[in-house]
Amino acid sequence: MPNLFRLLPPVDQALHRLAGEPELAAMPRPLLRDLVNKFLDLCREEIKAGVIASEEQLVSDTFFRRMTCFVRSQSRPHFRRVLNATGVVIHTNLGRSLLAESAIEAVTEACRNYSNLEFNLDTGKRGSRYSHVEELLCRLTGAEAALVVNNNASAVLLCLETLAKGRETIVSRGQLVEIGGSFRIPDVMARSGSILVEVGATNRTHPRDYENAINENTALLLRVHTSNYRMIGFTRETTAEELVEIGRRRNIPVMEDLGSGCFFDLRPMGFQFEPMVQDVVASGADVVTFSGDKVLGGPQAGIIVGRREYIEKIKRNPINRAMRIDKMTLAALEATLRLYLDPELARREIPTIAMITAEPDELKKKAQALARLLKRDLSGRLDIATRPGVSRVGGGSFPERDLPTTVVTVKPTSGGAQALETLKDNLRTAEPPLIGYIEEDAFCLDPRTLRNDEFRLVSASLAQALDMAGDGSACHN
Ligand SMILES: *Cc1c(COP(=O)(O)O)cnc(C)c1O
Repeated sequence: MPNLFRLLPPVDQALHRLAGEPELAAMPRPLLRDLVNKFLDLCREEIKAGVIASEEQLVSDTFFRRMTCFVRSQSRPHFRRVLNATGVVIHTNLGRSLLAESAIEAVTEACRNYSNLEFNLDTGKRGSRYSHVEELLCRLTGAEAALVVNNNASAVLLCLETLAKGRETIVSRGQLVEIGGSFRIPDVMARSGSILVEVGATNRTHPRDYENAINENTALLLRVHTSNYRMIGFTRETTAEELVEIGRRRNIPVMEDLGSGCFFDLRPMGFQFEPMVQDVVASGADVVTFSGDKVLGGPQAGIIVGRREYIEKIKRNPINRAMRIDKMTLAALEATLRLYLDPELARREIPTIAMITAEPDELKKKAQALARLLKRDLSGRLDIATRPGVSRVGGGSFPERDLPTTVVTVKPTSGGAQALETLKDNLRTAEPPLIGYIEEDAFCLDPRTLRNDEFRLVSASLAQALDMAGDGSACHN
């Protein structure tokens, strides 16, 4: 048994081999040296573990090719595009909503040039960054005033801190939800300094429960949309109208955290339970909060609309400054909101709405087109077919709702379940990474969340994944 450790090349020799790689030539030397050292360390680990067990693995061209691949993959940007074949439209881990083209252009424009971000072009004086979207938000929702912050979590925190700090906020027990990513209503309430008063039972809360809990220290009546779960059976929640009636009578503001704010009427397509922002405002709620990048399909933002007296108070809260949105978000949000002025335009142009409302027939054709392309490129290596499936809206919206779709299924022609798992793992390290799911012994690709112009990339990523060694280490790009 030769001493394999001694066969590893010295760092300088390894660096010399990399000099011939045009893409790596421009890389800073110290960085390249660090990566080569990291690769050599990895090899030492592999020798210890017995993964590298023969001389050939160390002296051959394969070794240097592996090193080049390693260095190349490590020097790629860390944050990059992926192909979402999961069919989950608002996939929080994969970046939630995609922006409409006009919103992308607006962001580019705002980044490349100076702008009137906080400059009033009419008066020549200092302006407010919120003025760019406030009027649009009021028009779309019917509210008197509006404000936008970093995300909906901060919107909720800011509203509670402003309206109920040191005093009591009444919430139904059925609405003390955890949204994921550690956003829990009781915790946010505690951080805001407001005192949570739970009322009702887990499954049923009546108007009289709120009524009985009101005292001179009550600052706010809060309703929270349960977003990512549903209670069914013997349940009752107090409606927005009922709560507003109590609030008016007792002179206490009513706030509603909608989570996923929806401007587009999805009810004709059979979507229940996701209330429209317009309707909630019309019901008389004083303050309404929702996300910019859930069903709305815009950038990450927390939108607050409602009565002027409350919104003004929230705007003046010094914490607001710590949660303010940047100009890119503002540009994207204004462009997205403009599309909602014409619902047909919104449906066509806003990817989130277009994907949610995609017709089953259209998706079937899309799946067939993708399957044809994959068969042309990869038949012999993969068994490729289509079958009916379901997609999800995601983002905690419409959790009970199956969206009918047609998925493309792919399966390695040999190797069984292990080969399938390996394929799935390798696809994550392909370029671009391809994310899908395994169901009933096949890897599924849902065309709902793929654009036609991405099909070519899907095929390329699958080819790369099939080329990779079992450990995902082969060269691919
Ligand atoms: C998603 C959600 C939030 C948090 O919104 P982010 O935009 O993710 O910060 C808060 N409340 C409810 C009810 C939600 O569904």
